[in-house]
Amino acid sequence: MTRLRPVRGKKDITLGDGAAHVHGRVKHGPDLESAMQHEGDRIADLQKVLYADARYGLLIVLQGRDASGKDGTIRRVFSAVNPQGCQVTSFGVPSEAEQMHDYLWRVHQAVPSRRMIGIFNRSHYEDVIVPRVHGTLSKKRCERRYEEINDFERMLTDNHVVVLKFMLHVSRDEQKKRLQERLENPQKNWKFREGDLEDRRNWDAFTKAYRGVLSSTSTKWAPWYIVPSDDAKVRDWLVARCIADTLASLGLRYPKAEPSLRRLKVE
Ligand code: ATP
Repeated sequence: MTRLRPVRGKKDITLGDGAAHVHGRVKHGPDLESAMQHEGDRIADLQKVLYADARYGLLIVLQGRDASGKDGTIRRVFSAVNPQGCQVTSFGVPSEAEQMHDYLWRVHQAVPSRRMIGIFNRSHYEDVIVPRVHGTLSKKRCERRYEEINDFERMLTDNHVVVLKFMLHVSRDEQKKRLQERLENPQKNWKFREGDLEDRRNWDAFTKAYRGVLSSTSTKWAPWYIVPSDDAKVRDWLVARCIADTLASLGLRYPKAEPSLRRLKVE
């Protein structure tokens, strides 16, 4: 695999351990480093035009199990981007105030405006994953939410927001290693949450919930991409390439200068 493909149907939803790796073709070493550098540079260049062009905003949704690498992906994929054109929002357990609103309220406020790249570290998809796993959302209500989410994202894309959604897919073994590292490494202890162990025990229930999300909310206007994420460098490169390709497909351009500008001189 050298390019991510959008989830178009049930056959594309592979969430077994094997799907967390890219098999063959991607080699580590200087080639992968320079390929990543290349995609990072493309994103940085295209982001400048996205900003100047002012017709679109780009929303990137990152979902994945604990320790799937959402933070690392954000750090590396956007390392060359001008921070003024980029906003990251992390969604944790809803606060009391947030719970007083509908579940899309908090995400809608964080949707990027024209010019901006908005990155969601977790998102409204938590509201069709966590309560499903905990048994607090019926199947019927959940299906209604899928429809609401599809409508919401349709409304965004009808209104100048380009939406890309990435599910960072790690295997059970790799998650174990990463959580173990959080327990043992003093620089990573702060990232450890006891709840992560409970979520890990619910592995199959999360897989089922993700499968529901991927099969019901990967749309033409807001596609899901499943990213093999056991190998962080390959993961970052695949995500970066997909974002760069999407930005490149928008036909972004610098606005034409006003004719009056040509007559002006800087003394
Ligand atoms: P990492 O993936 O690196 O472990 P994290 O994204 O888990 O980091 P935390 O702040 O530790 O970051 O966890 C956020 C927690 O908030 C997750 O357990 C997530 O499931 C939970 N959460 C987010 N949104 C909701 C929601 N709408 N309802 C219930 N739980 C939510």
